[in-house]
Amino acid sequence: MAIQSLNPATGKIERTFEPHGAADIENMLKQGEKAYQNWRKTNFTHRAELMRFCEGELSGNTEKYAQIITMEMGKPIQEALAEVKKCATVCEYYAAHAETFLADKQIKTGATRSYIAYEPLGIVLAVMPWNFPFWQVFRFAAPAIMAGNVGILKHASNVPQCALAIEEIFLKAGFPKGVFQTVLVESDAVDTLIKDDRVKAVTLTGSEGAGAHVASVAGKEIKKTVLELGGSDAFIVLQDANLELAAETAVRSRMINTGQSCIAAKRFIVEKTVAEEFVQKMKTKMEALKTGELTSEDTQYGPLARKDLAETLADQVKRSVDAGAKIVLDGGHKDKETAFFQPMILNNVKPGMPAFDEELFGPVAAIITVNDEEEAILLANNSRFGLGGSIWTQDHLKGQKLARQMESGAVFINALVASHPEMPFGGIKKSGYGRELSYIGIREFVNQKTIWLA
Ligand code: NDP
Repeated sequence: MAIQSLNPATGKIERTFEPHGAADIENMLKQGEKAYQNWRKTNFTHRAELMRFCEGELSGNTEKYAQIITMEMGKPIQEALAEVKKCATVCEYYAAHAETFLADKQIKTGATRSYIAYEPLGIVLAVMPWNFPFWQVFRFAAPAIMAGNVGILKHASNVPQCALAIEEIFLKAGFPKGVFQTVLVESDAVDTLIKDDRVKAVTLTGSEGAGAHVASVAGKEIKKTVLELGGSDAFIVLQDANLELAAETAVRSRMINTGQSCIAAKRFIVEKTVAEEFVQKMKTKMEALKTGELTSEDTQYGPLARKDLAETLADQVKRSVDAGAKIVLDGGHKDKETAFFQPMILNNVKPGMPAFDEELFGPVAAIITVNDEEEAILLANNSRFGLGGSIWTQDHLKGQKLARQMESGAVFINALVASHPEMPFGGIKKSGYGRELSYIGIREFVNQKTIWLA
């Protein structure tokens, strides 16, 4: 089946692409392997120079790449611009730090000399999602390539133009052919790629189902995987919180990318003494958000990336309301012919409801009221996911104590959960394993080799 680039705001098919066939894939693997044999021998200065050209290409053409993102997956232009800029930042970050992060680490033992050397693995396959179609890819590619690996990207089927644009960026920056390649295939071709001996490892960002499948195929092949999957982040508001700032951040977090972010706050767990005031503030701020032309600077949210995602979300809301959730802010999938979903707030959410148990990948906030902080932590941890979470309290010691009790890969106290190049990013439980970013992320796809001189 042809791969379509469909504008979710208009429903118009912008372009179609014939998927790569077996012969194309074989050529890419050959090209990737050939490129790797040379690339692995290059030094960090050379790699950093090219990575900085990549940074320059992104920074110099932010608007052009942002337009592709907006057209293809429906992100308002302001957010698309910010995404492209963030990609430039991560290129610069690893250009500056990869050599230090991967320098031999001397270890004191009984040997004359013993140390850990960090060596590349080869072709890393990246199976990536559509929600941050540039950022998710650069977050993987910048460290992996700086480490001496080469990448093959299998992007989500609804963002082929983004996928091809990213390949072009690496070529324009001067990376040798084969260091970064995009393969246009649907997900059923991924198994073949994983099973190929030339592919040494796989990273996937996406749903739990896709992650479980890819990891099981890779596991059978004894290949390393990193999985960054879904989340249902708790946003805990204690009674001593700065409610105004908390509500403002709550709305920002829930509405980033029209709610389609793995680290968006999804479950708002609020102490009952401040619940009414907090919910009212959230409602006022959510109602004030503007939608409209995606290319307009004022637009704050757009459609979901695909109509089926709006249908899934509407079904999750319906099942939650049937189970007793109360609608505080009404919205939803009003026009069934489109991918638009108006923001909603559900109150009285409890475990057992989809709004609590499942990931709501869209602009629906679930409010859960609790008696105290102990109950808040208990409910925050009562989730199959463990990606991020935040705690709102003016008591910094209490905030840090509670942060340690949260079952997640990150906790932000009085701040928006976000990824930062300097800090590791990833989850526990069904949110996946492995880490991206920081010095830890660059060491995921390397052979951490012991060298011992007697
Ligand atoms: P998917 O997980 O299906 O897609 C993510 C990537 O995985 C795509 O490249 C997709 O390819 C690929 N993929 C899917 N299934 C397989 C498979 N069996 N084997 C190999 N590769 C596979 O996400 P959806 O687009 O269907 O979104 C569904 C839900 O996933 C969302 O509602 C959300 O809950 C979650 N999600 C989480 C993301 C995150 O950032 N953690 C990002 C995106 C989604 P293809 O497009 O060709 O199917």
